[in-house]
Amino acid sequence: RKLGIALLGLGKYSEGQLAPALQETNNCYLAGIVTGSPDKVDKWKRKYDIPDKNVYSYESFDQIKDNPDIDIVYVVTPNALHREFVVRAAQAKKHVICEKPMATTVEDCQAMIDACKQNNVKLSIGYRLHFEPHNQRVMELGQKEVFGPVKSIKAADSFKINVKPEDWRLSQKLAGGGPLMDVGIYCIQGVMYTMGKEPIAITAKYGEKTRPDYFKTVEQSISWQMQFEGGVIADCVSSYNDEAGFLYGEARDGWWRLDPAYSYSGIKGETSQGKMDFEEVNQQARQMDDFANCVRNNKPTQVPGEMGLRDVRILLAIYEAARTNKKVGI
Ligand code: NAD
Repeated sequence: RKLGIALLGLGKYSEGQLAPALQETNNCYLAGIVTGSPDKVDKWKRKYDIPDKNVYSYESFDQIKDNPDIDIVYVVTPNALHREFVVRAAQAKKHVICEKPMATTVEDCQAMIDACKQNNVKLSIGYRLHFEPHNQRVMELGQKEVFGPVKSIKAADSFKINVKPEDWRLSQKLAGGGPLMDVGIYCIQGVMYTMGKEPIAITAKYGEKTRPDYFKTVEQSISWQMQFEGGVIADCVSSYNDEAGFLYGEARDGWWRLDPAYSYSGIKGETSQGKMDFEEVNQQARQMDDFANCVRNNKPTQVPGEMGLRDVRILLAIYEAARTNKKVGI
């Protein structure tokens, strides 16, 4: 039997990526929806053949515990709301996938992990790039020291944001921060899966706000450095006012570059030995199939809540370093 997934939060990512990916999955399928927007229900029901009994509002959501069609709830709301919905899903005894960043505070992350443990359900974070071949190759090159020990890393993830001023992505309260929380997290992920270990210290600097009226409560851009034992430094930048998306690594005997590194498709890679040659995959389909497989076979996920918490801790350390202009230990 394919496991049933309910998408919670039917915004751009659910509509544009996750629901289409769920048409290509083998271990799971789109069984239900949970939404705060009644006007979206008809279209989703028709398009994906979802029965009325598998449609929930945020108010009726807790009743999902009585629905055997739903095995997994996938939380795809603004960042600061992840905690509430993950905890409620866990209390309904459903396994959970939560989008990145896991939450906006370490305390929230811990509460989510605890709720899933207490209710004996699995928790994973929507880190799709762990299932993408070019990025998987970087994990191997870095962690297995294929070209000798890593010497330095450079990463950037930026895009020119074009949302209404009232959008949650520009709200400190709902997003927890600006581009760092939204896409800079991919640089952190890239650095972490290149190194396979924790940094020891972080330095950071906010970029200039050229549009202070638009970026009222979140940063417009930020650059930061992650320092590792042995002197390895990762140099990173993330902005809402630029276009970039790369992950470079330099090791003793060779180098690698992914550019674009983090996109949904069209990822390209090269090493000092030549071009990478990997098939294009549906990252989200692979990610969800992997989690469904973990649930079915009671295996640990490669992208657990603990990894989400680790990254939120790093995100917040970067903000602290930028705010205080001091090196922050991890
Ligand atoms: P979006 O703005 O398109 O959608 C957000 C959804 O949340 C909407 O359906 C909205 O109605 C709903 N929502 C519920 N409560 C809300 C509130 N109080 N304020 C505003 N909206 C509310 O955003 P999105 O791009 O779909 O992002 C949703 C989540 O998915 C975020 O956590 C984001 O970081 C993550 N995301 C991940 C990826 C990825 O590649 N893994 C890509 C995009 C987004």
